[in-house]
Amino acid sequence: MKAIRWHPPSFDIRVEEIPAPKIEHPDDAIVKVSLAALCGSDLHIYRGHGGPGITAVHTCGHEFIGHVVELGSNYGVDSAKGRPELYATLKVGDKVVSPFTVNCGECGVCRLGYTCRCPSGLLFGSPALEGGQAQYVRVPKAGATLFNLNDPHSWSSSLPAELKATALAGIADSSLLMLADILPTGVFAALQALNHPKVLPALTGRPFPTSFFPGEASAAMVAEDRTLTFAIIGLGPVGLCAAVSLLDMLASKELPFQIIAIDPVEDRRAKAMAIYNKIDTAGKGKGTFETCDIEQAKKRCVGCSAVLEVVGNTSAISLAYDLVRNFGAITSVGVHGQPPVPFTGSQLYAKNVSFDFGRCPARAMFPLAFDLLVKRQDVFGEVGGPDSLVDRIVSPDEAPEMYRAFEKNQVGKVVFKMN
Ligand SMILES: [Zn+2]
Ligand SMILES: [Zn+2]
Repeated sequence: MKAIRWHPPSFDIRVEEIPAPKIEHPDDAIVKVSLAALCGSDLHIYRGHGGPGITAVHTCGHEFIGHVVELGSNYGVDSAKGRPELYATLKVGDKVVSPFTVNCGECGVCRLGYTCRCPSGLLFGSPALEGGQAQYVRVPKAGATLFNLNDPHSWSSSLPAELKATALAGIADSSLLMLADILPTGVFAALQALNHPKVLPALTGRPFPTSFFPGEASAAMVAEDRTLTFAIIGLGPVGLCAAVSLLDMLASKELPFQIIAIDPVEDRRAKAMAIYNKIDTAGKGKGTFETCDIEQAKKRCVGCSAVLEVVGNTSAISLAYDLVRNFGAITSVGVHGQPPVPFTGSQLYAKNVSFDFGRCPARAMFPLAFDLLVKRQDVFGEVGGPDSLVDRIVSPDEAPEMYRAFEKNQVGKVVFKMN
C-alpha cells in the first residue's frame, strides 16, 4: 500500500510502498482510509522535535476516516457482551472515524472520560503505532476507539435522533474528518476555559469565593466585572475550531464577552475574521470578536479572564502568561516539546494563575464536537474558500510539498485522498 512516512532526523517525508497492516490482536480492526489530514501536531515530529524516543521511521498521521475491511476475532461474538458497544455491533463495511488516540474503554481512566490518558492508549502516527496517512491502518482496541458513522445511535448527542441521522447523511467526509482531532480539541480548549473555577465570579456575578455556592448576583459588581475576556493564541485549524466553539458556548449561554484572536500571520487572521463574519447574528451572541497580531495583543488585551493557547511553543505560552489577568486561567492544548516551560514558581505565585495543560480526550469530546459540526456546517462544510476550514484535498504524492508548505504557514488544513 501507499503510505506517507517520516524519516529521521527531520524534514524528510517520503511516499512509500509498504506492506498493508494485518490483524495482530483479536480487538484490532483494519480500516481502509479514504481521507487523512495533516495536523499542526504532525509538525513537531516533522521538525525533529518529537522527543528522544522518536527516532524510528514510521507512517505519519492521526486524523483519518474510512471503512472497516477486517475485524479481529473478538467482534460479533458472545464474549463481546458487556464490553464497549462496537465489539458487538461493528461490521466490515461500516464507515468509521477514529479519535487520534486509541483507548480501551474498560479501565477507570476511560470510565472517568479521560480517554486520551488510558494506560492502554497509543497515538497514531508515532513509532508506537503506525499512522493513518496510508491506504490502510490498523486500529487497536477498535471496539472502544472508533465511531461507527453508519450507526449514529452508538454515541450520545443533544440532537434529536432523526436530525442526527439526517444531518450525518448531509456532511462531507472532509468535514467529518475534523472529528478525529481538531474539532474535539477546539471544543476541549473552549470548554475548559469557560468552565474554569477562576472564571466563575464573572459568570455567576458573585465574587470569589461565594461564586462556588448558590446565591444571588452581587449588586456591587458592575457590567465590566462580568464581561468575560478571552484571548486565543494561534489561529491555525485548531485555534479556529476553538474560536467557533467558544463563540457557540458564549452565545448559547447569552453571556457578555470579548474574544481577541491572535496570530502573527495575516492570512490566518483574515481567515478567522472571514469565518466569524459567516456566522449568523444568533451565533455571534452578546459579544465582540477581533483579531490582532502579537504586538497589538500585548497592548490590547492585558487582563484576560482566560487564555486559550493553541500553538505549543515557549513564546506562545509566555504571551499567554502576559495576557492573562491575576486569578486568570490558561488552557493550553498546544503540544509542548522539549524546552522547559518559561516560568518560575514566583511568577506563577505573583499572578495566582491556573494552567490546564494537555492532550484532548477526543473520544470523550466527540459527542459535543459532532453536535457543533452539525450546527456550524456554514463554517465546517466547505473546502477551499477564504472562510472554510479545510484548505485543500490533494493526492498523497503531494505530501512532501504539503508538509513543507504547512510548516511555513503557506497552506491551511490539508487533506490527503488516500483511496
Ligand atoms: Zn491532529
Ligand atoms: Zn482505558
